[in-house]
Amino acid sequence: MSVRLANANGRASLVIGDRLLDVERGSNGRFSADPMAAIQQWDSFTEWARGVRPGDATTPLRDTDLGPPVPRPAKVFAIGMNYRAHAKEAGMDIPESPVVFTKFPNCLVGPCADVELSSAFVDWEVELVVVMSRRGKRIAEAHAFEYIAGYCAGQDISDRRLQFADRPPQFSMGKSIDTFGPIGPTLVSIDAFNNPNDLALTCDVAGERMQDARTSDLIFSVPQLVAFLSNLCTIEPGDLIFTGTPSGVGSTRDPRRYLKEGEEIVSTIEGIGTLRNRCVAPR
Ligand code: ZN
Repeated sequence: MSVRLANANGRASLVIGDRLLDVERGSNGRFSADPMAAIQQWDSFTEWARGVRPGDATTPLRDTDLGPPVPRPAKVFAIGMNYRAHAKEAGMDIPESPVVFTKFPNCLVGPCADVELSSAFVDWEVELVVVMSRRGKRIAEAHAFEYIAGYCAGQDISDRRLQFADRPPQFSMGKSIDTFGPIGPTLVSIDAFNNPNDLALTCDVAGERMQDARTSDLIFSVPQLVAFLSNLCTIEPGDLIFTGTPSGVGSTRDPRRYLKEGEEIVSTIEGIGTLRNRCVAPR
């Protein structure tokens, strides 16, 4: 049985159907209210969670109560140009090794959080987000899923004016502005997926389908990314990998199309769920 971990009003919560169970209260204090603690003890946490009786989850789940299921990762890796059609639309060559930048953790927000438009050139990028569960170095591709807690849906919101202000581009800053990293709605354990390398993902903006792809089209697959990154950096529980966005972003459309105040970005990944983020003026 798969496990869904949510961050409900800052507290680790188990999602069962449309109900929540507070992890600290439900486990009589065995696990704390911090969602990061559940991820750091992922094996024992999921073992406990699988034994919870569905009837014990009684609090109605309201998506607007949810924060980022992984609120304070040590590292947020993000991958550029990881779908062929997106590299082509961006006029970039197909990379021979993963193109890596970071999103600083301040940008992470919940699945229904507002996105603050820092300029008139802010763009959408739906992405599969990998959540690591165990410390590791030089993880072999064949063992990658043993180090993965599960997946979230994510948006790699990008201010293209800042990103491409000069050469070389400013990937990390243009993608790390506060509110530029909605993730969720929950962390779904990896065993929930029949094929964790092939999930449908879509992004709608103001009701229009903008992105529609499958993660099987990734140039560097999830196991390949884990192997590549862990060869360089020790992986810690809770580390995130934004795996890259498929084609259909606004900045490569003709005419170019950017997010406007009042528009809603709806991002869905098969087996994970949906993010609904309203675009607002900076606060
Ligand atoms: Zn991206």
